[in-house]
Amino acid sequence: MQGDSAPTAEAQLSFLAKVQRLFAEGDFTATYKFALLIAFADLAVELGSDDGRELLLTNSQIGQRFIQLYWNHTSPYGVGRPGSQPGILVQNAGAQARVISAIAEFRARVSASSPQLAAKHANYRDLLRKVTETVSAQPLTYLQNFGGGTDPFIYERAGPGRIRLHPGVTYCLRRFQQLIQQLARSHWIDHIKVNRRNQAILGDADDLGEFLFHSSRQSLVALGERLRLVDGAKCFYCGSAVANMDVDHFIPFTLYPRDLAHNFVVAHPECNRSKSDMLAAKRHLEKWLQRLELRSDDLAEVAVGLGFPSEPEITRRVALWGYGSALASGGSAWIAPKRFEVVDSSYMRCFGA
Ligand SMILES: [Zn+2]
Repeated sequence: MQGDSAPTAEAQLSFLAKVQRLFAEGDFTATYKFALLIAFADLAVELGSDDGRELLLTNSQIGQRFIQLYWNHTSPYGVGRPGSQPGILVQNAGAQARVISAIAEFRARVSASSPQLAAKHANYRDLLRKVTETVSAQPLTYLQNFGGGTDPFIYERAGPGRIRLHPGVTYCLRRFQQLIQQLARSHWIDHIKVNRRNQAILGDADDLGEFLFHSSRQSLVALGERLRLVDGAKCFYCGSAVANMDVDHFIPFTLYPRDLAHNFVVAHPECNRSKSDMLAAKRHLEKWLQRLELRSDDLAEVAVGLGFPSEPEITRRVALWGYGSALASGGSAWIAPKRFEVVDSSYMRCFGA
């Protein structure tokens, strides 16, 4: 794939075929490669653009993503679950994965309930250095080895502490973000399940995906309570006021599975259920973008205390990407229960594009 223009359909298919081969033929001793693919897909959405351009990333940016992805995994799993002996899940075929041990050690010394709060601590730099070193020595070195050879089709080293995603790769990662995320997550879950040392910890539990990849219910409930103080105790979409409000991902979690603080709104359960995994219609988008501009600081304040990432500009870019993808694929958007509209080019003008 060459140049600044979007890769051809053929080049995109070839990329996907190689990703499939990587999963089928790669050697997954630890879960790092899944985390690396998720980090690439997320960073491509957040920092990349919809042309064929290459993207430079620092190993430290990837290291930070690893800390965010693995943070909750260093809490014991199985607490309060019948048939389970609680413990930290093992994510490596041999000794525990070094990233997990490093985060667990950090958490034992420093009281921080989230990576966002941890980052404010002086010792965080040391943790980030350790994790970044592991990322560089392990998955960045081995991800592109599969089928008995090396095929550097995603990235190359670009000097000390940096890599370059090849031209066309960012485009493909953005376009197939959901697919790559889902593949990486389901393989990640399987990797943990088949490790014999996790059997006693897992017991009969069936919520491993929730545990690994979702914010805890308690933190979402707390977030909902605080959001009501910022936005008022009414549904973001229809304005109705009810006692029990849900917390909704404005850009659906299935489309973009990171819990960015500015992406949350409160909605009453009927609207939340009905919108489900859809994008919201233009009238809601306009309101949401306005809120992002006017209430950004209030939302950041709510987020920081509860440990959700506060990245308003990134959140805006994720939304632009999400609606851009829907426009490109003829998607529709949710207006109200049982009412939808097609995402047309006027949506993009909401972003001032
Ligand atoms: Zn509503």
